[in-house]
Amino acid sequence: MKKIRLIASLLCLIAAFVQATAQQNYTIIVSLDGFRNDYTAMYNTPFFDSMAQQGVSAVMMPSFPSKTFPNHYTLATGLVPDHHGIVANSFLDREQGKYYSLGDAAARNDASFYGGEPIWITAKRQGVKTATIYWVASDVPLPGGMPDYWWNYNKKPLLTFEQRIDAAIALLKKPEAERPHLIMLYFEQPDEVGHHCSPYSKETGKVIEQLDSLIHLLNVRLSVLPIASKVNLIVTSDHGMAPISPDRTVAVNKYLKPEWIEKVDGDLPGQIYCRPGCADKVVEALSKVPHLRAWKREDIPSYLCYGTNPRIGDVVALPDAGWLFTDKVDFSPGGAHGFDPTVSDMHVMFRAIGPDFRHGYAKTEKFANTCIYPLLAHLLGITPAPCDGSLNLVDDLLAK
Ligand code: AMP
Ligand code: ZN
Ligand code: ZN
Repeated sequence: MKKIRLIASLLCLIAAFVQATAQQNYTIIVSLDGFRNDYTAMYNTPFFDSMAQQGVSAVMMPSFPSKTFPNHYTLATGLVPDHHGIVANSFLDREQGKYYSLGDAAARNDASFYGGEPIWITAKRQGVKTATIYWVASDVPLPGGMPDYWWNYNKKPLLTFEQRIDAAIALLKKPEAERPHLIMLYFEQPDEVGHHCSPYSKETGKVIEQLDSLIHLLNVRLSVLPIASKVNLIVTSDHGMAPISPDRTVAVNKYLKPEWIEKVDGDLPGQIYCRPGCADKVVEALSKVPHLRAWKREDIPSYLCYGTNPRIGDVVALPDAGWLFTDKVDFSPGGAHGFDPTVSDMHVMFRAIGPDFRHGYAKTEKFANTCIYPLLAHLLGITPAPCDGSLNLVDDLLAK
């Protein structure tokens, strides 16, 4: 008798769970790499403007350093790079005796670098299906498992932008039991054009306008799905883009003695791995350099939330926005990111429309990108893992 009651209550629980996930809306989050917040003011973006009118608009701040891999993994986990471990696009991990770099497929796919719990794993643990189309780290075999549907960034040629949209639509046309409740969709632009041509260029303007049309097309195709009224669309990014020029550089060699240094990684910020006992000399040598701030790892100002992870350089050298910490002189003017996330050039566009969002609401306070993970967990009706962000900081975006 007891056994029958136990089975009955288990069945009730399962039925309630199935009903709860069936009632939950669907969410597509699109990341347009390097989409500066003010591109919509600089260029012609009728669709992104209409998203602001129909839904919500806000300014989002990246985490430090404002680079692609650290920030996409922050969006996925709600943890700042210092806490999730992807502390830069490339770094030295002395504990493991390994070097990580986004350009090295084997290192990039090594799960031991990735801490925290990305949303696709949180969802999987709670029985909710997800799909990722080239989202950073979603093609890495993490111990908690892969998204239900995912695309491998190592497999070339990559899908075209239009094919990625086809793939997202096809996922939403699947039978209900197979349909993902979350789709995370990544596009490499406008980062690429912003680097080559600077954020203020007609080439960048053209790409911004193409992306506006592309996401408009996605929305048109969403709007004719049988589940159209249940789909949220979020469009955002990982960081902004600042103009750079060869006459705004700080030359490393001029200030640092080779015998102090094990390795200098990256120019923005520069991660300086020092020989034992040399970190103070490096900071001292860089302390009076114009357009540069340099700190020992443990002295990095607290607002950057960076400095406890041993993968970070012993000294971090951060140039002012628009400046590079590099010996290179023969590069063309263009754009770069990695700067202080509080600088407006690094800020990111955030737009969202759909049944869970308010209509015509412009949020006035900027919010940190660590809030995206708890926001997605809320939209999926699942419990987030502990993280650095908070739903409370973004719940004014939600329809009541
Ligand atoms: P960056 O501008 O250096 O911060 O990095 C941007 C680059 O990251 C883009 O050009 C992409 O090619 C690359 N990228 C983005 N997502 C992935 C991924 N999932 N796997 C490998 N590389 C990626
Ligand atoms: Zn990026
Ligand atoms: Zn970039």
